[in-house]
Amino acid sequence: MAQTYLKNSYIVTMGPEGYVYDGGGILVQDDRIAAVGIVDPALVGPDAEVIDLAGKYVLPGFVNTHVHTSQQISRGVGDDVDFKTWLHKRMWPFESNMTAEDSYVSTLATCLELIRSGVTSFAEPGGQFVEGMAKGVAEAGLRAKLAKSVMDCGDGLPPVWQRTTEQELEQQEEDFHRFHNTADGRIGVWFGLRTIFNNTDRLITRTKELADQYGVGVHMHVAEAKSEIEYTMEAYGEPTVTHLARLGVLDKNLLAVHTVWLNNEEVELFRKHDVKVSHNPASAMRVLGFAKIPRMLKSGICVTIGTDGASSSNHMDIVDEMWLTSLIHKGWRLDPTVVPSEDILRMATINGARALLDGHLYGSLEAGKKADLIVIDPHGPSMLPANDKIASLVTAMHSSNIESTMCDGRWLMRNRKILTLDEDAILREGCERSAAIYKRAGIELPDRFPVVKVRG
Ligand SMILES: [Zn+2]
Repeated sequence: MAQTYLKNSYIVTMGPEGYVYDGGGILVQDDRIAAVGIVDPALVGPDAEVIDLAGKYVLPGFVNTHVHTSQQISRGVGDDVDFKTWLHKRMWPFESNMTAEDSYVSTLATCLELIRSGVTSFAEPGGQFVEGMAKGVAEAGLRAKLAKSVMDCGDGLPPVWQRTTEQELEQQEEDFHRFHNTADGRIGVWFGLRTIFNNTDRLITRTKELADQYGVGVHMHVAEAKSEIEYTMEAYGEPTVTHLARLGVLDKNLLAVHTVWLNNEEVELFRKHDVKVSHNPASAMRVLGFAKIPRMLKSGICVTIGTDGASSSNHMDIVDEMWLTSLIHKGWRLDPTVVPSEDILRMATINGARALLDGHLYGSLEAGKKADLIVIDPHGPSMLPANDKIASLVTAMHSSNIESTMCDGRWLMRNRKILTLDEDAILREGCERSAAIYKRAGIELPDRFPVVKVRG
């Protein structure tokens, strides 16, 4: 039995009573939290590693509910171009030219950024290679719900992605049987639906049936862009969420991403069916628009935070996304009281765990839960003085304040050093593979300034 005792810290539990322990302790035993807050010294064994965290905070590990691991090494592929160019001329060519090995290295590169930003668990909506993703996540030591990006219709898809409904369903079931509940239970396999543009009604309803049968979730981009609603109005005579409701797939195991273009009746449908929402503010601000997050929170919908892919927002840093979430809704609503910091911390922790259908396992610091936690050092000019400690975690913190990240009782990062992965080697290989894929896919980014090549 291995014990780690973190003492003398400012513990933000995010538990049901919302307790904060000023000067409290956490006892970790193997992969679980044994005690939180006022820890009985008799529980701490003579061999326990004792760490004094004076002046530092402990929070649950963040849960990032929308992470495209395969896009990490595409970074820069879509800056300052319109949506169609981004998708058809940049993103699809890039992703459809990746191999399983590329996906693995891209996943490792993503995991580096996730660990550094305090994420211990994430949901991946789908690259093409669950195998590559699972290998990367297992090595990184994180938790993840992985899905394949699933498409059975749509104009202009690369030939390699033109697949039938049955092929897509079979592939997902195969991935489920191979990778679900692997890496000591840290990896779960979910079912993916890319978007309504690329998914037939039959695929959508069969996917939901299979997810129910296997007791997992469905990860789908929903009501993402204005053009999507124009499409569904034309194709089905109703907007996306109304159509999904008609198909009977709105449910507690649906993780709906972006959800920007919902009318008020559709927000009510989400509430009624306990649909989980992944809010991706940076990606939304680029081209999608403003999701009705204040209304959703007020109605009790489980809203969470995601970073999307590096090709959409470049920042795969949930701390940045928390800060953006704290700003943009105040701005468009002209009301600085909406979406307060405590709501945002819930979105990034316990709500995220609930959305991943793991609210009983992590997302808050409680005895008996998994030891998924982070240590934050507020020391530095950007965060001090932290007079309002809780608000400062959202409005002033940077990911550079995250000192250590633990998942499943194991340190993935300690004192800013990543312990599970070789950071330099991964970044080097990620850059090499990225350049090779750009070349294979025929993607050339124009020079923004005249470049003079100087050879030494
Ligand atoms: Zn996405």
